[in-house]
Amino acid sequence: MSKNNKAKPLSKKAINNRNNKLIRQLKQKKDGELDRIINKADERAFKVIDCLDCANCCKTTGPLFTSKDISRISKHLRMKPGHFVDEYLRIDEDNDYVLKQVPCAFLGSDNYCSIYDVRPKACSDYPLTGMRSQKKMLPLLMKNATICPAVEHIVDELIKNVLTHPKEKKY
Ligand code: SF4
Ligand code: SF4
Repeated sequence: MSKNNKAKPLSKKAINNRNNKLIRQLKQKKDGELDRIINKADERAFKVIDCLDCANCCKTTGPLFTSKDISRISKHLRMKPGHFVDEYLRIDEDNDYVLKQVPCAFLGSDNYCSIYDVRPKACSDYPLTGMRSQKKMLPLLMKNATICPAVEHIVDELIKNVLTHPKEKKY
């Protein structure tokens, strides 16, 4: 192969510029259209990416726990809510309950969640790309792409299709 065939990796600055341009283009879409584009890309991404091969969100970030989450999970574990909080949670700088430590204590070595049916809402919503109101969540898209391979897959698809063909309705 000629060395000219090898694509030169983009600099950090070029990546930032490209990502900012993509976000600006996505912001210009109508709310419903943006939801459709990202939700469809989410479906395609999770056809090729299996959370059980990954669990990176559970290993590196962890969710916030609402009072409903705490009450539901502590009931499931037959613990008093206060005891559950003492055992597993701390309050972060935004005054939210979060895990004391990551990887999450409920993550098994097989990447299964031991409280899956009652897991925090933030876990079931993550990585947010399957939800509506994507415009509000655009600021999180690039950050989540550094954590979640499915979001990385979505962003790659958006770069190829929206950034390169901004006027195209379907792809
Ligand atoms: S980081 Fe993304 S792909 Fe990995 S387990 Fe979490 S949601 Fe699934
Ligand atoms: S509660 Fe379950 S899904 Fe949520 S971070 Fe922990 S292991 Fe992952």
